[in-house]
Amino acid sequence: MYELAKENYLTKTKKDKRYSAVGKDQCKRDFAVCPACDNPIQIIGVYKKLENTDKPYGRHYNHDTAIAKHNEQAYQ
Ligand SMILES: [Zn+2]
Repeated sequence: MYELAKENYLTKTKKDKRYSAVGKDQCKRDFAVCPACDNPIQIIGVYKKLENTDKPYGRHYNHDTAIAKHNEQAYQ
């Protein structure tokens, strides 16, 4: 998990549609690239406030996205 600054994330990504996608459940997902392994990560808590923390964080997504492809080898 990576702590993220919401302002930084939105500033960096809001002009680029590839950083978000609507899933099958119709929920919007926001993505970034993991600084350690270059795999896509999903950003949790950017728009919706979390119950357990007020800081957004990133979680490995394990699927290909428009900004990065999942690389199992790098992830390991
Ligand atoms: Zn990673």
